[in-house]
Amino acid sequence: MKKINHFIDGKEYSGQSKRSGDVYNPALGEKIAEVCFANSDDVEQAIISAKNVFSSWSKTPPLTKSRIFFKFKELLVRDMDKLAAQVTEEHGKVLSDSIGSITRGMEVVEFMCGVPHLIKGEFSENVGSNIDSWSMRQPLGICVGITPFNFPAMVPMWMFVVAIACGNCFILKPSEKDPSLLILLGDLLKEAGLPDGVFNVVNGDKEAVDCLITHPEVSAVSFVGSTPIAEYIYHTSSQHNKRVQALGGAKNHMVIMPDADLDQVADGLMGAAYGSAGERCMALSVAVAVGGIGDALIEKLQPRVQALKVGPGNDPDVEMGPLISGAHLAKVKSYVESGVKDGASLLVDGRDISLQGYENGFFIGGCLFDNVTSDMQIYKEEIFGPVLSVVRSDDFDSALKLVNEHEFGNGVTIYTRDGDTARAFSNQCQIGMVGINVPIPVPMAFHSFGGWKRSLFGDHAMHGMEGIRFFTKLKTVTSRWPDGIRSGAEFKMPTMK
Ligand code: NAD
Repeated sequence: MKKINHFIDGKEYSGQSKRSGDVYNPALGEKIAEVCFANSDDVEQAIISAKNVFSSWSKTPPLTKSRIFFKFKELLVRDMDKLAAQVTEEHGKVLSDSIGSITRGMEVVEFMCGVPHLIKGEFSENVGSNIDSWSMRQPLGICVGITPFNFPAMVPMWMFVVAIACGNCFILKPSEKDPSLLILLGDLLKEAGLPDGVFNVVNGDKEAVDCLITHPEVSAVSFVGSTPIAEYIYHTSSQHNKRVQALGGAKNHMVIMPDADLDQVADGLMGAAYGSAGERCMALSVAVAVGGIGDALIEKLQPRVQALKVGPGNDPDVEMGPLISGAHLAKVKSYVESGVKDGASLLVDGRDISLQGYENGFFIGGCLFDNVTSDMQIYKEEIFGPVLSVVRSDDFDSALKLVNEHEFGNGVTIYTRDGDTARAFSNQCQIGMVGINVPIPVPMAFHSFGGWKRSLFGDHAMHGMEGIRFFTKLKTVTSRWPDGIRSGAEFKMPTMK
């Protein structure tokens, strides 16, 4: 049985703890590896390694860091097929989607190749007589990342690439469900020239997380995962005086106005609701049909959901792979059951799918509900599976109210041909990432990613300039050189005359 170690000080490390977790191939429903679960001694090893190298790494010229990232990007391109196969094996998503997700992480590498420019400070000459002032951004020290199963490459790269480029050392605690990729990335960073100890991977569960987020040597914690855990990480890390950003769950709506192009809408919904089996924090799980277009929408959608090609992610003809685990499959099925009980119309039921040769895989077919209302559990909670709910809404105002009253505020999109409607919607919605005729408005690396309300705890989004601000602290220097002129002691606040 394959054993997945930690990655500390530039090499694999099996750790002191005897605890481990099972890693599955979700298409086969079979255990394929065991991952080491770190205890406090193992976490300490990573802290020592990061601490030893921080002083030299933080002083390394930005251009040297930039060259390492240029090389890292080349290596990601070289090994893309191998990395994507690894993501598909443990996560289950289709290969083209694995490549897409690694590419979105690689965009952060491309962005941070510009680190010499991005962390340049500001300078003001003569802020007072013969006095100059400048501001600069300095690294924090040891930063920690804790990441979810659904993007084993992209989400960690949102964090560690920015943190490291800014001069920090990083310890990543990836999801215990699909951790192998991070060891491969550690090897590539080393090959690119990153000094040992700057990037470390500690595998594990709550025990490892709690050691990391309460450790006195850790300066900042970056988290992505479900809302209850995000809230816990935010409060616990803050209580231990860490800087923290904690991104949580979502329930993303597509508002479809009566003037929308329904073919474009159906294309957008198919990819965004069922892509990656709905296991995306930006998945569209609610379609709000405004002003009587519900029937026409269902007519377009229903046959396409029925025809979804479900199967193992490494089959190039497949559109949707399995869910991550048997427990998650049971949870998604129970949501479908609750929708039926609450009175929603289940138009497509994917629960009984069986695939020859993959009978034990964690598969569910696409599910489509109509006549969903805002009091139902399937509307209120994040399902994180291939289940789309159609909600009927009389007009723009009630659709907007629905979006704004939901507890989550990650992403939303509106489909319309009317610029005024689109503008009013994007101005008034209480959501962090907004699409206009775009199904999954995930910002590029040079903008920032982050939701509102119970989708993000803390005040900084990921990557872009927000990421750089999160992983650096501001220092402002006010300076005068001796010029022989003495004005004596002053006891009032210094001001410009
Ligand atoms: P999760 O919250 O179960 O796990 C996330 C991380 O937290 C993992 O590394 C896990 O080991 C750790 N963890 C789990 N329980 C813990 C505990 N009690 N104490 C300390 N650490 C704990 O999330 P998941 O199931 O891996 O991922 C799916 C969730 O992530 C969904 O809710 C999805 O919306 C969310 N997500 C959000 C974003 C975003 O940007 N907002 C992006 C991707 C995923």
